Amino acid sequence: MDSFNPAELWIQCLSEAKNSLESTEFEAWLKKSSFEDLNGSLMVIRFPNSFVAGHAKSRFGEFLEELIRDISGRKDLALQFIGDPAKPGPSSSISLSARRASGQSDTAFLRSNYTFDHFVVGPNNQLAHAGALAVSRGSNSASYNPLFIYGGVGLGKTHLIQAIAHSLHQEGKGRTFHYLSTELLVDRYIKSVLQNDFSKFRKLFHNIDFLLMDDIQFLKGKEQTQEEFFHRFNELHQNGKQIVLTSDRPPHELQDLHERLISRFQWGLVADIKPPEYETRIAILQLLFRDEKLSVSHDVLDYIASSIRKNVRQLAGVVHRLAAISRLTDCEINMDIAQREIRSSLGSITRRLTAGNITSAVAENFNVSPGQLKGKQRKRNILIPRQVAMSLMRELTSMSLKEIGSFFSGRDHSTVLNSIDRIDKLKKHDAELERTIAELRRKLTSI
Ligand code: ADP
Ligand code: MG
Repeated sequence: MDSFNPAELWIQCLSEAKNSLESTEFEAWLKKSSFEDLNGSLMVIRFPNSFVAGHAKSRFGEFLEELIRDISGRKDLALQFIGDPAKPGPSSSISLSARRASGQSDTAFLRSNYTFDHFVVGPNNQLAHAGALAVSRGSNSASYNPLFIYGGVGLGKTHLIQAIAHSLHQEGKGRTFHYLSTELLVDRYIKSVLQNDFSKFRKLFHNIDFLLMDDIQFLKGKEQTQEEFFHRFNELHQNGKQIVLTSDRPPHELQDLHERLISRFQWGLVADIKPPEYETRIAILQLLFRDEKLSVSHDVLDYIASSIRKNVRQLAGVVHRLAAISRLTDCEINMDIAQREIRSSLGSITRRLTAGNITSAVAENFNVSPGQLKGKQRKRNILIPRQVAMSLMRELTSMSLKEIGSFFSGRDHSTVLNSIDRIDKLKKHDAELERTIAELRRKLTSI
């Protein structure tokens, strides 16, 4: 965009952000922002107050900056978030859940297209989908209570749990539900503690037939909220109310949660969602392009489905960006444009790789702990993985040898260099090691 309109650009950026963020987060922090001014390459964005501006900056600043550069093609753009000094008071996210305390179902925070109609069923998500459908039809069977859906990021958990809410709402039989992200529940609990008044918190669970809680893994470390939640869970369950939970991992891997909660999570149906197979990815792409009223060739579909394998949100992100490009440039989406777009998404993945997630992936692969990798032991079964981690860090991040060394308990840069050399040499004679490293690299960089 040469002569670009920054106000337009911000609106565009918001609509993209809305597609990639949880709706509750978007509504709470970004929705009320607006373009204020452009100073050279600094775009000034106004928020309702400085509290929201500060939060938005720390949580989404980098993401939004990247988005705005992607959309505009101007790599020099930077964002500044401003707002008048905040009146001390609750953030908007806290008031979200407070609004419904009366036993009515709240649909304001549901994404309109997260419905069953818009959910492509494949072998990867069949059981979770069947469970969600059964629950929404009111099968009311103890074997589905709770329904616990788990899977990696961007695989459709929020979509499915909201689809249940939509279905309950549309059917209009007056069955009440409460859809709640676990982060909001925790916020709400903290507020109750601050005000020393738990009645509102408890009311969240009153007079509902369905409790739909998204991202239950966020209860980790929230001892008090867990305790309260445990009692509410029992009450609802005993009264035959349906509970649906989502999580990024299976119950038994929620190690930081109380054992008694974990065992309750396993009372009903535990269903996982895996990354979609190729055919399912194609079907999802077709649906997404249809929504955008954009037609693309089969080659382009195939290219996208083959490049992005692990995360439906990334698939959706690419489709939304291609649609935006097509609208802004009034061009058809051809293979060239698709390739450029995918390459830039892959680039941003690589930028997100950190020492921490490389270490975790390597540790998991070699069956040792991240702590052991970072520690001092020099046994071969730890030494080799440690050296592999150093070498992948050098390759996949922009960390210097010195930074890598200090990440590994303050080793110096020559140790790091020697380690990398050694792995290079070992790889030449050890095909198994070479395969392992290639697989790790693929895992870390694939999307
Ligand atoms: P999660 O909560 O598991 O991180 P989401 O439910 O937010 O993931 O899904 C990410 C994006 O992918 C959403 O835009 C969602 O609509 C889309 N999506 C995921 N799975 C499917 C599917 N099977 N069919 C259609 N869209 C899907
Ligand atoms: Mg989610």
